[in-house]
Amino acid sequence: MFMKLKFLGTGGGRYVTGEQRRKTAGIIIETEKTRVHIDPGPGALVYANKEYSSPEKIEGLIVSHAHPDHSSDAEPIIEMITEAYSNQATLFANETALNGYGEIEKSVSSYHKGLCSQVERLEEGSKHEYKDIKINSQEMFHGDPRNQGFTLETDKKKIGFWTDTQYSEELLGLYTDCDIMVIYCTRPEGKSIKGHTSIDEVPDIMESTEASTCIITHFGYALLDSDLDEQKEYIEEEIDGKVIFAYDGMEFPGESSLERFS
Ligand SMILES: [Zn+2]
Repeated sequence: MFMKLKFLGTGGGRYVTGEQRRKTAGIIIETEKTRVHIDPGPGALVYANKEYSSPEKIEGLIVSHAHPDHSSDAEPIIEMITEAYSNQATLFANETALNGYGEIEKSVSSYHKGLCSQVERLEEGSKHEYKDIKINSQEMFHGDPRNQGFTLETDKKKIGFWTDTQYSEELLGLYTDCDIMVIYCTRPEGKSIKGHTSIDEVPDIMESTEASTCIITHFGYALLDSDLDEQKEYIEEEIDGKVIFAYDGMEFPGESSLERFS
């Protein structure tokens, strides 16, 4: 069994996105049977093409919510898969990205939804299966009130995606039996703000899960302005597991190790 994460982008929030201080191209999960592009923000289409000689092998998309750093390139990627390469695309997205919610407009047009062979809505408690991946979703506490956190599970491993959210104990249950946690973290220690996760909260998240590794990504401006080595040490002192600060282009498990998820 094989599974790999490719971090095409590790930036988050409007300032980092605007300046492209880090890329915002999302994460691709590769399994034995498929490739799924998670949260394709600005640059996702460009870097998917640069990364892969055969980008048409991307078949699925997961859009956690409708903010541009998670969804802007969903439409061009759907077109790439379906129109440019005449393949089938499957879209998993939250209510807001699909239909709009409150003041927030939808980020995937009806035309683009129509290009997909399958469209499924991620919502509180929803469960989905796609090729060799099982997806479990839950609602997080964020500016897009329908933002979804989720787990992706194959035969062997379960990866938790703690997406944009205010920290809350209520959210921990979904992730208890994960092997790896990917944590979207915009803020440094001591500087939490509403609707986002800061480094302070990473130990609390990791304490409640069996996961032995946390991967920090979706770096916001204030976090990038801080001393990242110190931020990492802060977490390492608090938890037993392995702490990885993702960087643009990073693959997990790394190229250098022969370790696979098997
Ligand atoms: Zn957001």
